[in-house]
Amino acid sequence: MSFERFFNPKSVAIVGASRQKGKVGYEILTNMITAGYKGKIFPVNPKSDTVEGLKCYPDLKSIGEIPDLVIIVVPAKVVPAIMQQCAKAGAKSVIIITAGFKEVGKEGKELEEQIIQIARVAGIRIIGPNCLGLIAPANNLNASFGGDLPAAGSIGYLSQSGALMAAILDMAKGQGIGFSKLVSIGNKADIDELDIIKALADDPDTKVIAGYLESITDGSSFVREAEQISHDKPILLMKSGGTEAGAKAASSHTGSLAGSETAYESAFARAGIIRCDSIKQQFDYAEAIALQPLPKGPNVAVVTNAGGVGIMAVDAIERQGLAIAKLTDETIKKLSAKLPPAANLHNPIDILGDALADRYEFALDAVLDDPNVNTVLVLLTPQAMTESAAIAETVVKVAKQKPTRRDGASRSPAKPVIACFLGAGKIEKGKQILQEGRIPQIDSPESAVETIKVLSDYVRWRSRPKRVVKLFPVNRRKVENIIERHLRQDILEIGETESKEILEAYGFVTPKGAIATTAEQAANIAEQLGYPVVLKIWSPDILHKSDVGGVKVGLASEQEVKDAFDLMMYRVPKKQPEANILGVLVQEMCSTGKEVILGMNRDPHFGPLMMFGMGGIMVEVLKDVSFYLAPLTSEEAKQMLINTRTYQMLKGVRGQEGVDIDAIAEGLQRVSQLVTEFPQIKEMDINPYMVGPKGTTPVAVDARIGLEK
Ligand code: ADP
Ligand code: MG
Repeated sequence: MSFERFFNPKSVAIVGASRQKGKVGYEILTNMITAGYKGKIFPVNPKSDTVEGLKCYPDLKSIGEIPDLVIIVVPAKVVPAIMQQCAKAGAKSVIIITAGFKEVGKEGKELEEQIIQIARVAGIRIIGPNCLGLIAPANNLNASFGGDLPAAGSIGYLSQSGALMAAILDMAKGQGIGFSKLVSIGNKADIDELDIIKALADDPDTKVIAGYLESITDGSSFVREAEQISHDKPILLMKSGGTEAGAKAASSHTGSLAGSETAYESAFARAGIIRCDSIKQQFDYAEAIALQPLPKGPNVAVVTNAGGVGIMAVDAIERQGLAIAKLTDETIKKLSAKLPPAANLHNPIDILGDALADRYEFALDAVLDDPNVNTVLVLLTPQAMTESAAIAETVVKVAKQKPTRRDGASRSPAKPVIACFLGAGKIEKGKQILQEGRIPQIDSPESAVETIKVLSDYVRWRSRPKRVVKLFPVNRRKVENIIERHLRQDILEIGETESKEILEAYGFVTPKGAIATTAEQAANIAEQLGYPVVLKIWSPDILHKSDVGGVKVGLASEQEVKDAFDLMMYRVPKKQPEANILGVLVQEMCSTGKEVILGMNRDPHFGPLMMFGMGGIMVEVLKDVSFYLAPLTSEEAKQMLINTRTYQMLKGVRGQEGVDIDAIAEGLQRVSQLVTEFPQIKEMDINPYMVGPKGTTPVAVDARIGLEK
């Protein structure tokens, strides 16, 4: 849909405009006027003839023309009637500021449904209700009661909280941060976060999209579309509030380990969305993106007038996994020609406490020219002779000269310059000059480095290879039959035998074995399998067999098998008397390998969430697991392994042979394919998935599959 009528309306009607100070209808009207809105304003209020010097209309129809945008500020109960007026008058774009809808309970919800109904029939699009409104500084449009019109800039902002938007406006004003558009989305009765993100993506004035969200209406389309958009425009989001449904008690390992925020984290990672934990972080990142070019790589050069602060920055660079740029000999030569002998010519470049603007100038110039440098961080502490204003001017000048050098040669690519002037009073003027000169000023070396890290991660994400999800040849029909049979009988937990059949249909190898109901039978099966064997209690009621003494491994003889059988059949019923015990599974013993877990938990918003981690019976204790949304590419599967501490062990440590990493990644991709093809699978895990050295085939030793209708 087009947002032209919202972002750049030629006329605006304010239904509920008021001459009474302090009323929302007054604030919006005066905000519209004060912002210098160039279009026509039509106040609508049957109780007045004029407001603020403007002719006031009794209703929408009597205006005599269709306003591009209608802002509604009348009490909730009256809103449906006004919506009917909008429909009759032919208005198509409406902002409902009024609160008292879904957010207050049943009655409000019914009112909200009424207005949606009217809008659908009439083809009206709504922002809100229960919102602060919309601001488009470049169009002098302040259709909000949030505060004064902020400066025009290139950050497009959307907020699910009106109060937070008001705070952001206030903070931004103090820091001179500019916006392209600000939209408060309120209850999202019609237009939701994704609609606004798409509108900002299409908006030529918006260079970076930022926002605050509490919920996402449609998880899968959000991920799909945001991934496309972030490719061109970075998206920075703050997100609060967990997904209760996703965090509900789960019986699988994966379900119990997936926190309420895990799915959001994975979804944001997939979509390239930069998650921010605070408003300050969001502003730091957004400003850096809005004002500067993106870095082409991870190499940072630090120019400082204080050694200690330089070291702090360098420590942060290392901690964040960025690189301290190694300067070329040519750069070192240039620096040594002009800097005093005591200066440090290597990164961090310490131009000493008595540095004036000239030293900053040639140091910055030299590092910006250095091909090994991707980003420049300028640090300043206000020492006795420091002229922060003059230095700020120099930083602005040198950074602006890029990408063209004074000698005419092109300095490409353009490089971001980030400033961190430490202090308060003494650097106030300097900060202001930086701000006006479009140099992001970040108030600590750590935050500055963190910002650089976020930028370079984003650039890396953007250049990642195209996602290709491999499809393995599988026996889909077989799985379909098993699942349908279970669901028909209302059985939501697939038993061990059939779980194995499902896994085999998707290319997994499972251990051979059979059920015994007597010790004699158990010994016979063991004989056929070959020693050693494993005995496991066989009961649909026992989820974790080891917990009740229901697993015995390494049984090497007939006698051991018989003894283990008797002991198990004697002990387990004592531990879990209500369990229906059907016998004992005699299983071939897998030769030693490492135990990992492959799992999935279906998130109600984002779909199947894959898990990988250290397996075995300690998985819940160690919690060394990683998550990602299915379907997985082989790179993503591999990355899931790398994201755990277990990975180091799997690769092999201290002379110990590693295991077949690719085979594990393939296992994850196969589970990913299974759960993508069968949305009826609600959760599952293979634990342990036993993996051996490279070239061996892993075995799915134990598995659980849970269904939902
Ligand atoms: P549960 O998870 O219900 O306790 P498992 O079948 O996963 O039962 O067995 C528990 C542990 O016993 C496994 O993590 C593994 O260490 C070991 N184990 C089970 N079956 C085998 C097998 N066939 N070969 C080797 N080790 C096994
Ligand atoms: Mg297990």
